[in-house]
Amino acid sequence: MSDWRAKVCEAVDRMEPRLRDVGKDLFDHPEVKFEEVQASKRLAAELTEGGFDVELGVAGMETAIRAVHPATSEGPTVAILGEYDALPDIGHACGHNLIAAGGVGAALAVASIKSEIPGTLLFLGTPAEEGGGGKVLMIDAGLFEGVDAAIMFHPSTNTMVGRGSLAITEVKIAFHGKPSHASGSPEKGINALDAVIQTFNGINALRQHIKDGARIHGIITHGGVKPNIVPEYASAEFYVRAPENDYRDELLEKLRKCAEGAALATGARLEFNLVGHSYRAMKPNKILGERFLEHLVACGVPHNPPKDRSMGSTDMGDVSQTVPGIHPYVQICEDDIAGHSREFAEASDSERGYVGMLAAAKAMAMTAVDVLTEEGFIERVRQEFGVT
Ligand SMILES: [Zn+2]
Repeated sequence: MSDWRAKVCEAVDRMEPRLRDVGKDLFDHPEVKFEEVQASKRLAAELTEGGFDVELGVAGMETAIRAVHPATSEGPTVAILGEYDALPDIGHACGHNLIAAGGVGAALAVASIKSEIPGTLLFLGTPAEEGGGGKVLMIDAGLFEGVDAAIMFHPSTNTMVGRGSLAITEVKIAFHGKPSHASGSPEKGINALDAVIQTFNGINALRQHIKDGARIHGIITHGGVKPNIVPEYASAEFYVRAPENDYRDELLEKLRKCAEGAALATGARLEFNLVGHSYRAMKPNKILGERFLEHLVACGVPHNPPKDRSMGSTDMGDVSQTVPGIHPYVQICEDDIAGHSREFAEASDSERGYVGMLAAAKAMAMTAVDVLTEEGFIERVRQEFGVT
């Protein structure tokens, strides 16, 4: 092991109580997307204490962080990323408290030797991964310009690198019909709820003919007010996901046709809106990912990818399409537990969770050191990004 790698691992060991406390603090005070006020202040304070120049409130988000270590010199730029938003009602059921603690730990560990090594070290605190697209806003604000490698980790039920993510778009549809007495004069009404149901039926018929791995799932958000009034207004929300950005766009058009067909069939007027942020599919950098895995295994965490390949979506997808990036998963609980569940929240505040976070912090710090110091490494990373 190079001297620097050993040094960043020792730094994480020295900071262990502090990093556990960060993870616990965020866990105990869950804040949902764009409201991560306490979390972002805590992380900013830790980074300031670690010698970073910290900007809290960037890219138009009060809770976004850009921290740069002042010891910069010519060479690559590495960014370590941290998420810290929780989910409504179930708190840190995605383990973002551990992502933040591990990310800050890795950044502070590299900072401890930064004056001895070249390049630029950044920590980017990225709010609102759960549906707000903080990273997309930070990309749009130019915060990833000049970044050669973006590194983060995510707690999971398995340890795996190189897993992708699905491109996603959120759609809201609404139908406007005409109210009338549902029994006395149904012939005078136009039923907006029927149009929503027809849309679901159209989509369900479509399922046989869509590629494996794609997902279309929705809920009815308004279905009328009383059984004896023909629903004048009805609405639904869908997520459309696919392993490729283009196929996601194709499915979006098919969903639009289902809704248009339902409008035509019922006479209701359709409103079709894309809402929230679209996330792009992940393009995990293999060279960075393999290096992270090597370091993680050396820290005692075995590689155990699952057999199935179900995937979610994340705004790290957009980052990985913009600059070389990795979003590896580190196991913190058994794989019969579902993400976004109360059980996963428990794991995010468990001994196994903190041990996983500390190993991830070391592996991220060592990978960042390799990016900054190893001859020819970043060139290979860049080459893969350019040609894949
Ligand atoms: Zn997550």
